[in-house]
Amino acid sequence: MSKYDYDLFVIGAGSGGVRAGRMVAQLGKRVAVAEESRPGGTCVVRGCVPKKYLVYGAEYGNNFKAAKGYGWSADNIRFDWTILRDNIQNEVSRLSGIYANILAKNGADLFKERAEIVDKNTVRLTTSGKEITANTILIAVGGRPWMPEIKGIENAIMSDDAFLLDELPEKAVIIGGGYIASEFAGIFAGLGVKTTQVYRGNNLLRGFDEDVRQMVTEQQKMLGIDVKLNASPTEIKKSSGGLIVSFDDGSKIGTECVFMATGRKPHTVGLGLENAGIKVDDAGAIIVDEFSRTAAKNIYAVGDVTNRVNLTPVAIREAMAFVDTVYNDKPRGYDHSNIASGVFTIPPVGTVGLTEAEAREQFGDKIKVYTTNFRPMKNALAGKDQRCFMKLITEGKKERVIGIHLVGDDTPEIIQALGITIKGGLTKADFDATCAVHPTLAEEIVTLK
Ligand code: NDP
Repeated sequence: MSKYDYDLFVIGAGSGGVRAGRMVAQLGKRVAVAEESRPGGTCVVRGCVPKKYLVYGAEYGNNFKAAKGYGWSADNIRFDWTILRDNIQNEVSRLSGIYANILAKNGADLFKERAEIVDKNTVRLTTSGKEITANTILIAVGGRPWMPEIKGIENAIMSDDAFLLDELPEKAVIIGGGYIASEFAGIFAGLGVKTTQVYRGNNLLRGFDEDVRQMVTEQQKMLGIDVKLNASPTEIKKSSGGLIVSFDDGSKIGTECVFMATGRKPHTVGLGLENAGIKVDDAGAIIVDEFSRTAAKNIYAVGDVTNRVNLTPVAIREAMAFVDTVYNDKPRGYDHSNIASGVFTIPPVGTVGLTEAEAREQFGDKIKVYTTNFRPMKNALAGKDQRCFMKLITEGKKERVIGIHLVGDDTPEIIQALGITIKGGLTKADFDATCAVHPTLAEEIVTLK
């Protein structure tokens, strides 16, 4: 019998923490999990899940407009924000309950309060003051939205707030050019908000393939979003009519709502990491080795708190590698290469592997790039000008596929399957040998010349 209260104490009941807690409990170990908010974490409570529902909601707005070309008259359509918001929150509550149940069903204890580290084997629950010991600790506390400290920043909202707005504003300014800003600009515009997206760079989605960035920037404009580039906010002032945002290019915009989507930071402040000798980097992310082990050898960290690849499925894979390493006698890290992901703009982006610029840097003139840009057949009758873009990048004589970048309807669904081709090391010849499924968007990827 161990001298500790638990074999494993997990801080944070998000995607990574719940997966690890459940799996270790299934192995018959004594597991406890602490969560200061609702079980489910960012993904379920204030991220991927409610966001995707908002995207579905926004797509209806666009589809009603497009329905006329298909013979439907969709006049007198109205949208009620409170219905969508409350339905989403009900679903979030249901899913959060499932997360709590998964732990309970497998015999793990859930403490619904914040936990902080006292020493390398002890945590303190901050509401009850109770101290609990454990042989191993897993930190899976995720990240939090971050906003720059400009004058009047207290007048801005961030993504956490956007899901719970009492009412939708008529006008909104969204600051940022990343995932959250671009996705919410599409959501707000689709729901009828007059939306301006302001980004300090020259095309949205830094880090993505340049053609994708340009395409998304153009598509946002087609949705009716006023995209303002090369500008950063300097001040947000209250005015009689709402808010006035000033920018470093001297311009000002009057609006009802300023939504800062300027990135996220690991949620490590006040966690007591120093009490166990755990090291963090300049961004506050916990430094771990390939096995997700921190500087304290019995303490591990997975997910956004380590700021490796900040995506839900990655946190889950890291958690499973942790379980194998510590409890199944199979030490392994998680391979972070070639992770496919989607950006749920309208239409969305699906991407996996190297961008063209990265491929050129790594393989020089040994790369080949295939692209196509077409108007999807659905849009012809709908009277929509939005186009679909596909890029496939290969390397070497055998033309191994090393990058695929898509913009268009359902591309996150398509890229999930195409991710397998890159993980499997398939070549352009394998794509060419695959017969098309007609008529689909996806068939274009096997007919690229
Ligand atoms: P991102 O890092 O993607 O984007 C932050 C944006 O804010 C960038 O455009 C950045 O500009 C800009 N920015 C940063 N600081 C300032 C500043 N001081 N003034 C003006 N602009 C600023 O963060 P997000 O919050 O959008 O998303 C966080 C992470 O969450 C993502 O990286 C992703 O890993 C994950 N996520 C994934 C989703 C998905 O899978 N679909 C959806 C949502 C989030 P610059 O580019 O110039 O640095």
